Amino acid sequence: MPDGTTVFDDEIPGIANLDSDLLGALRQAATDAADDGVEFLVDSGWRSSAYQEQLLRQAVSKYGSEEEAARWVATPDRSAHVSGDAVDIGPSGAAAWLSEHGAEYGLCQIYRNEPWHYELRSEAVDHGCPPVYADPTHDPRMYH
Ligand SMILES: [Zn+2]
Repeated sequence: MPDGTTVFDDEIPGIANLDSDLLGALRQAATDAADDGVEFLVDSGWRSSAYQEQLLRQAVSKYGSEEEAARWVATPDRSAHVSGDAVDIGPSGAAAWLSEHGAEYGLCQIYRNEPWHYELRSEAVDHGCPPVYADPTHDPRMYH
C-alpha cells in the first residue's frame, strides 16, 4: 500500500478489492471525519494470500513462534484482509475518531490489541459494536 493511500484511491488494488459495503461505510466516515479536520489513511486493506503468507512468516520470525505470531497476523485462509473485509486505519488520530464515531457507520474495532483494525458490523448502526476480542487468538473465526 503506497504511503498516503486513502479510501478514495480506487486505482489501488488494496482499496479496489475491499468489500463494497465496507468501502462505502469507510468513505462516508472519512468524509465526515474530514469535516472534523481528521484525515483517514489506509495502512493496509485487501491483501493477496501470498502477501498475507509473507506477513505471517515475518511475524513468526519476529515473535519467535507461530503461537505468538497468531496474536497479530492471521493465516491467509482466515484473514479478513485477504477476503477484503478489513482495513488498518491510520494515523492514530483517525483511529481515535473511528473509535468514537465508527459504530454510526457500522465500522467496529475487533481486537483490543489492534486499535487500527476495523471491519464492517452493519448491526452496530442500531446496536453498537460487539465486545472486542483481546487479540485474534480469541476470535472464533480463526478456528472454525
Ligand atoms: Zn488489520
